[in-house]
Amino acid sequence: MLVDKLISKIKNYENILLMVHVEPDGDTLAATVAFYIALKSLGKKVSMVCIDEIPKPFLFLPQIKNIQKDILFGDFEVIIVIDCGDLRRTGFPERLKKFAKVFKNFINIDHHPKNDLWKIANINIVDQGASSASEIVWEILKKLPVELNCDIATAILTGIYTDTGGFKHSNTSPKTLEIAAELLAHGARLKTITKNVSLNKSVAALKLWGVALSRLHKNQYLQIVSSVITRQDLDDCGATYYELAGVVNLMNSIPDSKAAILFFETPEGNIRASLRTEKDSVDIGKIAKLFGGGGHKKAAGFTIEAELKLNDTQWEILLK
Ligand code: 5GP
Ligand code: MN
Repeated sequence: MLVDKLISKIKNYENILLMVHVEPDGDTLAATVAFYIALKSLGKKVSMVCIDEIPKPFLFLPQIKNIQKDILFGDFEVIIVIDCGDLRRTGFPERLKKFAKVFKNFINIDHHPKNDLWKIANINIVDQGASSASEIVWEILKKLPVELNCDIATAILTGIYTDTGGFKHSNTSPKTLEIAAELLAHGARLKTITKNVSLNKSVAALKLWGVALSRLHKNQYLQIVSSVITRQDLDDCGATYYELAGVVNLMNSIPDSKAAILFFETPEGNIRASLRTEKDSVDIGKIAKLFGGGGHKKAAGFTIEAELKLNDTQWEILLK
């Protein structure tokens, strides 16, 4: 079994690096800190790395402050990437390719559809039926001789909670809910999670949501709902780009729409798109892939070089 292979790597090696994906979400962060706590308790030398800033709502997670922005890969014997979706999203594609070739201890833990990481990783522990990478990590931790304490349980429940949209999305399986019950039994702090993740909107964030909602547009032919946020909007509201998380899910709750897309200008001046659908017949991940991105069937994203023209509530996105 692949999980047994991973467990023997963990037993045989001391220096382990856990990697969080770029533009980190609750799942990648939570699964990583849970794994970190477990490996530390086994006496391993463990580090965590994420090239991007940690969004405020997740700063409550235990050990999150120990995530580093960059790290020397040469210090590690085993590298585990969690929830990355593709090689580029690890933030360190070239260094990882080299590591996998030379050390043969590169492990991919994920729940995304097939992608270029599968070829490069030496062990792929992938379950596309899992609600989240956190769900997979919980199953792995149960097989390790570690105490599954309330910090681990809180982290894992955070990952499941965020990737299922608070148990609202169709990736919530009977197993997901069974695991959620186990986590609560292990002391997971659900109230802390809901307070930080969904009930924690600043005035600036809500103003920004207001701007996005005021620009809502429904394409009658495609039945797609879309909106846009510029860098100027962030400045005007005093909000950060991370405070947009969740807007596209709200847009996706509009009845009779096939999909929702939120476009926003990134700090680098590119255009990023967040896509969601509720329809089983629509594969939004495939659409994102057409534009060089990817993701799941019902939640995906991409970044393109494009120019945004905004005029009152009308806008255009012109590919460069
Ligand atoms: P979000 O809209 O929350 O940024 O992303 C939703 C999901 O789409 C993510 O969890 C991730 O699985 C996927 N995703 C978003 N952007 C990208 C991208 O640029 N590349 C790939 N491969 N997946 C992405
Ligand atoms: Mn995930």
